[in-house]
Amino acid sequence: MKKITIAIDGFSSTGKSTLAKQLARALGYVYVDTGAMYRAITLFAMNKGFIGANFENRDGLVAALSKIQLRFVFNEDLGFSEMYLNDKNVEAEIRKMEVSRNVSHIAEIEQVRIKLVALQKKMGEKKGIVMDGRDIGSVVFPEAELKIFMTASPEKRAYRRYKELLDRGEKIRYEEVLENVEKRDYIDSHREFSPLMKSSGAIEFDNSDMGLKEQFERMHNFALRVIEKQV
Ligand code: C5P
Repeated sequence: MKKITIAIDGFSSTGKSTLAKQLARALGYVYVDTGAMYRAITLFAMNKGFIGANFENRDGLVAALSKIQLRFVFNEDLGFSEMYLNDKNVEAEIRKMEVSRNVSHIAEIEQVRIKLVALQKKMGEKKGIVMDGRDIGSVVFPEAELKIFMTASPEKRAYRRYKELLDRGEKIRYEEVLENVEKRDYIDSHREFSPLMKSSGAIEFDNSDMGLKEQFERMHNFALRVIEKQV
């Protein structure tokens, strides 16, 4: 069967990566979490002192971008790929709240986006890929055969993220997570370069009141229909 490109975009914590992983597994496709790439650059910026609570040194980070190497390494035990920043596994670190607080500021920088979009396009050259992010259907793969734009109420999304963080052992308040989710949505949708938006041809999918199984079955059937139509 002909392989397609599946682009999944949407607001923070809408369950994009859960759906993307499920679809990739069912179709035998590669899954790429582009948020992990922006998070890894953010971690680099934090470690090198280019961004902190009340400061940002964009020029310093841009000058150091060529020193950043990113790659995904598939973890057989976990069943998904983990993010490596300059050969170090940073999968756990990039999910922390401190990175979430800074990431949307780093993702606004044009040179950061240029670097990551080029890498992402390369990863999808052969199709057979499910990629999730904010600009996949609009910028990275505008020609994707299937584009999904995911939404859910901010409260539902914040609650899901809050539980995830608690499960990972982070001490956090729900209100703090809600504030972070809303703030990231605002910055991501209003930035100058490739803002988050529903791209042309994307189907909107609100999963506020849907379980994981139903969400997967609906979108899997939809994807199979799109794949069947390819000649
Ligand atoms: O998907 P995740 O929530 O991990 O993404 C973290 C942040 O990375 C987003 O809030 C957004 O600022 C940025 N991002 C982006 N473009 C993408 C993926 C993520 O700007 N394609």
